[in-house]
Amino acid sequence: MTIEKIETFILKDKLSQSFFFSQWEYSERCICVVKVTTSDGQHGWGEGYGPATILESGIKFLESTVIGENPLENEVIWNKMYRKTLDFARRGVLMASISALDIAIWDLKGKILNLPVSTLLGGAHRDKIQPYATGFYYMDHDNPARDFEKEAKLYLSQGFKAFKMKVGLGIERDVKYVKLLRELLGPEAKLMVDSNHAYTLREATELSRKIEKYDIGWFEEPISPEFYEQYNELKSKTTIPIAGGECEYTRFGFNQLIKNKSVDILQPDICASGGLTEAKRIGALASANGIDLIPHTWGTSIGIHVALHFISNIESIPGRMYQPNFLIEYDQTENGLRENLTFPSIVMKDGMLEVPKRPGLGIDVDEDVLRRYAVNKSEIKTSIL
Ligand code: MG
Repeated sequence: MTIEKIETFILKDKLSQSFFFSQWEYSERCICVVKVTTSDGQHGWGEGYGPATILESGIKFLESTVIGENPLENEVIWNKMYRKTLDFARRGVLMASISALDIAIWDLKGKILNLPVSTLLGGAHRDKIQPYATGFYYMDHDNPARDFEKEAKLYLSQGFKAFKMKVGLGIERDVKYVKLLRELLGPEAKLMVDSNHAYTLREATELSRKIEKYDIGWFEEPISPEFYEQYNELKSKTTIPIAGGECEYTRFGFNQLIKNKSVDILQPDICASGGLTEAKRIGALASANGIDLIPHTWGTSIGIHVALHFISNIESIPGRMYQPNFLIEYDQTENGLRENLTFPSIVMKDGMLEVPKRPGLGIDVDEDVLRRYAVNKSEIKTSIL
């Protein structure tokens, strides 16, 4: 049995209302997913994080490297894809193309062996993961925090106990909105902030010191991902834990963050930084250096399931009887693809998400939904519709 066919789908969802953060405005969600099929008709699904059309081109470029390979030998396939792109794309969107294919191959491998991906990774240390709600984006340039109260009430009623908000609109406004959200969520809530690398070291230091009193769980991407040493300097100037890595790629990139002691929490996006094969290696580096790892997660339910399986397999070091909950990022902004694309749907119960025990990632793609959102319909083969 070998990999026989690779199909890509660009899915778009126009938002009913655009939202913005420190870098740009979103008016639609656009995601590239990939389906890998074997010679005996079994299939797996993957997703990449990055510009969908470029991601798709990368997957097409890698197609000849993957076709004919044994899907059970995912590390061999990963290395072949990496070697093919190494000279001109060690970082960036081509690594996201590799990630999408790698994830589809893990899903496929699990379905072939009739085992969940968490078992293939070595086993689930936990069967439930605590989601934190990523939201509190900005809708209105005149009154950016207009919907915070409504949003906070909704998430609290859904059972969320941890939350991440965007900062990066300027220090004065950030402090005002962090204070507001802390009041709305109450003292027990875990609250994180994310500037998407909007600030200089001086600005990030000033903001950190001004919001320390609001009990911030972590400050994510305070400064540009290029400045490994400045991250380390910021860490020494604030009591807020520093997080980063969603713009970093492969074990080699994460090794730079580790060697420079840049962050307290590593945040690889599994759909961009090298897939599950590479995430396992990044996890080993994090473990060997005593650094927490909480993946960045954005996109469809494929990516969420990838993260669920991966986080279930993270070893607790140090071990103790009363372990804190491991966290998974659960984006709550408008995205028709997030929960509709796959089945069975994600269920949040008592504030937790269950790690699926079904084979592969534990999901399959709803082909009607795929058809509804796909923009490259001419390429969708009748066999999957
Ligand atoms: Mg982020």
